[in-house]
This record gives sequence, C-alpha cells and structure tokens, in this order.
Amino acid sequence: MQLVRQNEKSGRRQTSYRVAAAALAACALASGCAAGGDGGSAQPAPGQQPLQAPPARALDAYAGKLKAERARLVAAAKRWDLAKPPLTAPEPPARKPHIAPRKGFEVDDQRELGLPPVFTTIPTKQKIVFLTIDDGAEKDPEFLRMMSDLKIPYTAFLSDYLAKDDYGYFKKMQRAGVSLNNHTLHHPYLPGLSYEGQKREICGMQDVIEKRYGKRPTLFRPPYGNYNQATLKAAKSCGVKYAPIWNAEVFVDRLDYREWDRNIHPGDIILTHFRGREDWKGTMPDMIRTFMKYVTDKGYAVARLEDYL
Ligand SMILES: [Zn+2]
Repeated sequence: MQLVRQNEKSGRRQTSYRVAAAALAACALASGCAAGGDGGSAQPAPGQQPLQAPPARALDAYAGKLKAERARLVAAAKRWDLAKPPLTAPEPPARKPHIAPRKGFEVDDQRELGLPPVFTTIPTKQKIVFLTIDDGAEKDPEFLRMMSDLKIPYTAFLSDYLAKDDYGYFKKMQRAGVSLNNHTLHHPYLPGLSYEGQKREICGMQDVIEKRYGKRPTLFRPPYGNYNQATLKAAKSCGVKYAPIWNAEVFVDRLDYREWDRNIHPGDIILTHFRGREDWKGTMPDMIRTFMKYVTDKGYAVARLEDYL
C-alpha cells in the first residue's frame, strides 16, 4: 500500500502545488504578506505577530516538500541510469471503472455465472499503463531497491514452484506495497487439466499466498494467458475476482504487442517476468530501464492496477 499512498500523495501534491503557487503569487502582490520561502520554519520574536498566516505557511511548506520530492526523484533517476524521472501517475479514480471481459475473451455463460473477467486494458482516457510481473524465478535485491527508489508501482503474479525457494524475497516486496497474486502452483497449461485439476492449481496457490503472506489474492493470471470456462469457475470458487492478462510484454531489449498498431494505449496492462541474465541477457533493472524509457518518452505514467479494480 505504501507505493499507492505515495503516488496518491504526489498526485494530490501536484494539484495542490498549483493552488499553492497561485496563492503565493497572490500573496506576493498583497501588502503585509511575507513571501519568505523558508518553508515556514522561521519563528517570530516573542511578542511579535507571526509574519505568515498559518494556511499560507502550510502551503509554502507543501510546495517546498513537493520540490524536494521532485529533486529526490530526479536524483534517483540519475542513480538508476534513467534519462528522465518517471512521470507521476494521476490520483486513482474516486469511482472505480467497470471491468468487463475483453471482447472475444469471454467464456460460455460468463455473465450468467458471474465469472471473473479476462481483460488486457483498464478503461481510462489517462496516459497510464500498469506493470505486472510474473512467475518469480529471479530474486534480485537491486530490483526491489530500484522500484522503491523510483516509486514505480507494479503487481506480482507468483507461481509457487518458482517462488518457494525464497518466500522472504516476496515478503520484502509485499512490505514495499506490492500486492502478490495468483499464477498457479506449477504453471501448467490449464485448459489441458480437468476442472478438479485446475482447482488444485489455482485454489492451492490461493492457500499458499494466504498462508505465507496473510492475504488471499483477488487477482489471478492463467499461465501463458490460456484458460477455459473451468479455469474461471475454479478461480471464482476460491475468491478470485479478476483475471487480468496483458496487452504488451516487456523484455530486456524490446516490447512485444498484442495489437496490430504495435503501440501502448491508455490503461494497457503490461507483462514482464522475474528473469535474470540466464534468461534474457540482462538484469531486472536493465529490463525496467527499457520499460521506463519507453513509457516516459511516450508521455505515460505507471499507475497501480489495484487502484482501478
Ligand atoms: Zn507465467
């Protein structure tokens, strides 16, 4: 949750900063108004009236904090070898959007049975995308530091056979505000299994995540994006509400797209994997650099998927 709150705050601060700047400008024109710019820390001498009224001082402090946070982010971007700092995501919507299955991705009786929708994009007009990271093979501490430092939100989908040799790594991730979700126990091709077999894979992973991390996921991603009606029935039976897949995939050196236009779109869910040098000639931070350069150059911010569900 920490990441969201930070994002919410920075979103709000951006708006408030404009208000603060306007207030300060007005203040500068009015007489008897101290535009000290000291962050509101100066104390009046005993017996004197404070030079700044408390609301103006608060706004001033606010603007100062925002400036400091921006400077911190610019420095962080430099440290992680990004040409530009990440763009700040807008505040999450007050009313969550309605998530319908993507056209052509429904199963029989989807609506009648109230099955979790499979979708690739969140309906929004804002220039935001959502980063999701799958499987759990690579456990790179540098990656955790980078994401916290740059305040880039993401959502993890774990498969137990890869996560289980170091549950502690994902615990650290969870503490940093990342939600851990279901990607089955053993990463099978689910449509090849019976309903019962699928239930064991999906509901078994619900139990593992609840036991290890104290929270039962509401998001489930079928391995390879392959599923049938039994998959969604099984997922629903053990508490899954949504089955997000993806519209583009990031590798260490490129992106692959689902759409013919070979582009990203507002609300797109982006897939990548916990992979290291043995898989793709680079590290997790290298992959994130590829991703962040791409989205920032296109004017997109990275938002948190759970804020829209
Ligand atoms: Zn996978």
